[in-house]
Amino acid sequence: MSAVVYHGANDLRLETVPVPSIRPHELLVKVAVCGVCPTDIKKIHYGTLPPPRIFGHETAGTIVRVGSKALRFKVGQRVALHHHVPCLECHACRHHTFAQCSQYKRTGITAGFEPAGGGYAEYVRVMPFVLPGVVPIPERNSFLEGAMLEPVNTVLKAVERLPLLREDTVLVAGQGPIGLMFTRLLALKGMRVIATDLLETRLHLAREFGAEWVIKAQSPKGKVQSPESIQPESAGTGQRTTAKVQSQLEVLVGRLTQGRGLDAAVIAVPSDEVVEQAQSLLRGGGQVLLFSHTRRGETTAVDLATVCVDEKDLIGSYSADFLLQKQVAALVFSRKLDVKTLITHRFPLEQTGAAVKLAARPSENSLKVVVDQT
Ligand SMILES: [Zn+2]
Ligand SMILES: [Zn+2]
Repeated sequence: MSAVVYHGANDLRLETVPVPSIRPHELLVKVAVCGVCPTDIKKIHYGTLPPPRIFGHETAGTIVRVGSKALRFKVGQRVALHHHVPCLECHACRHHTFAQCSQYKRTGITAGFEPAGGGYAEYVRVMPFVLPGVVPIPERNSFLEGAMLEPVNTVLKAVERLPLLREDTVLVAGQGPIGLMFTRLLALKGMRVIATDLLETRLHLAREFGAEWVIKAQSPKGKVQSPESIQPESAGTGQRTTAKVQSQLEVLVGRLTQGRGLDAAVIAVPSDEVVEQAQSLLRGGGQVLLFSHTRRGETTAVDLATVCVDEKDLIGSYSADFLLQKQVAALVFSRKLDVKTLITHRFPLEQTGAAVKLAARPSENSLKVVVDQT
């Protein structure tokens, strides 16, 4: 079969590899669609894992072979897959921190080599411990929708970490596919969402997805200088007066919350400046949730008294929550969260490299990119 094999940093090659053979408790799935996910892009760009591997973990397809002991599945079933499933029994699982469970950290889907998802190949082998993560796709829904269950789950999991009340004011910084899902899910929960992004096209969609206010972010530094707020240098003395620069966002948050501040902020862009700004706009007792800071080794200064005295929580969320699977399937398959709008580009398997490139450097009109073998 054909597969796109990772051979090191930025080195993906289309190769012929054996169709995986399966054991009695396993399934063989013919891949239809696989989403291109930022976590895979990171691994491919920085070469963080030893090659060879076949990546791709947002997979939907058709069961073509059922092991003799995987009785509850049938050949021909259209399914969405989860490559990680927690054990539900260990210390981490009892604390509901599934992403820290050692079984969860094992990848249970492979197209060959060290298991890495395998969705950028024609067939994948689904191992027994991830079978609870196999979700049937209803007849009226597409493989594209099935492939979006995993990313939607990661977003719903993060939303559930926020102790919000209806009509709370929440900032979602970054309106890529993930940010837009946050906007939609928060709006569905009755939150008042402020959406920011650098791209106008994404702000338009953010409105459609339920954002009440959208603001175009200016630059990574984020500050908009309105002319009247900048004081001229005092003549003659050569001394600089401190310019009072207030961002558009700051003004809006102040007005909407009667000066209280944001109830929560979701950071769906890997920018430290955005975190800093969001943290300063948060009310005491609010949360800043990091979703895109997945690269290790980078540090940033935080005034720890804002955490201790002001009780502003700095929290993160990573990966999916197995127990939300049903809720996520209902959201996507009912189209309450219509993921079709988010998928802007489909590439054939041979062009997986181009798909990864586009997803890594989105254009004005690109959102979710998928590899489509249908
Ligand atoms: Zn993903
Ligand atoms: Zn566990």
